[in-house]
Amino acid sequence: MDQEPSERPLPALSFRHVDPHAYPQGVAFLDGQFVPMSEAKLSVLDYGFLHSDATYDTVHVWEGRFFRLDLHLERFFGGLEKLRMAIPFDRDGVRRILHDCVALSGHRAAYVEMLCTRGASLTFSRDPRDAVNRFMAFSVPFGSVADAEQMRRGLCVVISDRVRIPPASVDPAIKNYHWLDLVRGLYDAYDRGGETALLLDFDGNVAEGPGFNVFAVKDGRLATPAAGVLAGITRRTVFDLCRETGLSCEAKAVSPADLRQADEVFITSTAGGIMPVTTIDGAPVGDGTVGPLTTRLKDLYWQRHGDPLWSTPIHYPQ
Ligand code: PLP
Repeated sequence: MDQEPSERPLPALSFRHVDPHAYPQGVAFLDGQFVPMSEAKLSVLDYGFLHSDATYDTVHVWEGRFFRLDLHLERFFGGLEKLRMAIPFDRDGVRRILHDCVALSGHRAAYVEMLCTRGASLTFSRDPRDAVNRFMAFSVPFGSVADAEQMRRGLCVVISDRVRIPPASVDPAIKNYHWLDLVRGLYDAYDRGGETALLLDFDGNVAEGPGFNVFAVKDGRLATPAAGVLAGITRRTVFDLCRETGLSCEAKAVSPADLRQADEVFITSTAGGIMPVTTIDGAPVGDGTVGPLTTRLKDLYWQRHGDPLWSTPIHYPQ
């Protein structure tokens, strides 16, 4: 009798896959266990991978303290609810897992991600209700959109004519991995001599970039796109800092011309904080140097990382 296909010996492979990754040093939580980053692997049948059916959040640790962790947990649990995903942990449970990933890794400055994929189903069912949702978390060393040199002189940004996936299609309040538009925008930027990109919304206004929001400063007043963008926690922190320091900051439509004519432009992300932009499409923003308001807000932002109202300590093993 013929053997079932799955019982036949596998043909010899003509080549072996060589894993190109040197995994960053870190600790992940997966299937109820803490494991080294190099062992945190996912099935190719997971719908998080096959359909980008997943949500996530990223919080950072700076000088041994989480920054605004409650806001990140709130956004993550909001995404789970909207996507009808369930995980076997409440906010305190996730908080503990994230804490332990960082404490076990020993990172003092970390990029810490919590994520949930739709998961897989035993029958490869196309009905998302049949999938077992999968929660994971990890801590890797802190990384930034802008490197030290770019922080000093400011980023060169290109405004791509690509449209960011609209909110009517994917609710940007659900932090997601729908990045094909952003990645193609990055290639547009590289082709035009830029370092990163900003995408537009359907009305031709500026939306956001790969992993960041954007602010324009004109005559001492700040503006950031109101709609069609992720409500970034760093963006929210800029609003909070402006309120505390009496600066005017408004969420509204920001056109490419508004950005080009601004005195200062900066981008915001958990991966890097407040980062200056000094050229747009090759032309200088203002006088082409990092502006005073950008520097002031950036300094305040990092100072507040030690404030117990906005940060919580990691308890590392002795
Ligand atoms: N916009 C997008 C598309 C992002 O992915 C991110 C962060 O990853 C941001 C904005 C900035 O959000 P946050 O300040 O919460 O990191």
